[in-house]
Amino acid sequence: MSLRLGVIGTGAIGQDHIRRITRKTHGARVVALNDIARAQAQAFAERERLDARVVETAGELIAAPDVDAVLVTSWGPSHEELVLASIAAGKPVFCEKPLATTAAGARRIVDAEMQGGRRLVQVGFMRRYDAGYRALKQTVDDGTIGAALMVHCAHRNPAVPEAYVGDMAITDTFIHEIDTLRWLLDDDYVSAQVIEPRRTRNAHAGLHDPIVVLLETRKGIRIDCEVFVACRFGYDIRCQIVGETGAADLPDPPSVALRSAGRASTAIQMDWKQRFVDAYDLELQEWITSTAAGAVSGPTAWDGYFAAVTADACIAARQTRRIVPIEIGARPRFYG
Ligand code: NAP
Repeated sequence: MSLRLGVIGTGAIGQDHIRRITRKTHGARVVALNDIARAQAQAFAERERLDARVVETAGELIAAPDVDAVLVTSWGPSHEELVLASIAAGKPVFCEKPLATTAAGARRIVDAEMQGGRRLVQVGFMRRYDAGYRALKQTVDDGTIGAALMVHCAHRNPAVPEAYVGDMAITDTFIHEIDTLRWLLDDDYVSAQVIEPRRTRNAHAGLHDPIVVLLETRKGIRIDCEVFVACRFGYDIRCQIVGETGAADLPDPPSVALRSAGRASTAIQMDWKQRFVDAYDLELQEWITSTAAGAVSGPTAWDGYFAAVTADACIAARQTRRIVPIEIGARPRFYG
């Protein structure tokens, strides 16, 4: 039987995920939509000829008896309330990052889920589903490069909109590295530091870009990540793990090696959606399959909470220009 989904938030990623569910993945169908901008949800449903109704409120969608599971793709500040409501209704919920905009909010979700006694929450950290990252993890796990010692990363976007302000380089962008590197290294962070190099003239007013984030893990691994969101030249994600006996690099996406007009070159993608399109597909397929089988298996609410605590530490480190400790305590048994 196909899993009946309700989607809250029909903006950019909500629409992408709905198209995925209707055209690419199997085992689920969208039966209900909700968006604060109701007209937008309605127009989208009609344009895509969805066999789904648009409901007035998110609460109504979560409570609907024909909605088996919920997809939260609205803007970040609404996530905590919607995930808590889904847990209270006993429904599995896939929540796009961030799980909550504060560590305290993410902790409330962890506590509510544990109180309910059953895993219901998956967070949209899709890089764990990327073939390149999975191959890199395999290389680390099988000992090919010995024990990991250092990690060098870059997260570069060609440009960001004017609405991208303040600490979004950490809460919206670097948050992906925060989760992915914890998973890759099977380790937790103990401290964060943020350095602001010379500012590019291509960043819009009010944005200090680039930044460099330094993390230290429990095992003593040192991570440096350049976050450069107005780099102009492409959406360029790099990750190199240096171990005791070798170094392993995240593979670049396949690109034709061109020899033309006196140059040898390969393209750099410009669009983040394209870079991780296969990962998004697999992420949703695995969520659908595991949810239908009654066991959510992807990134947990605890992972979302850890990411939020780390992001808060990075923000504090940036403000104080100091090394800020990351203290979170042991992972509850509930999360394995
Ligand atoms: P978006 O285009 O602004 O879409 C969000 C939609 O949700 C808008 O239509 C918004 O309506 C609506 N909305 C806001 N609050 C709501 C509420 N309480 N109930 C119902 N609908 C509500 O944003 P987006 O780019 O799709 O991003 C959505 C979320 O996905 C963000 O948290 C973002 O960080 C995350 N995301 C993750 C990835 C990833 O790589 N995993 C990529 C992109 C986005 P209004 O426009 O009227 O406010």
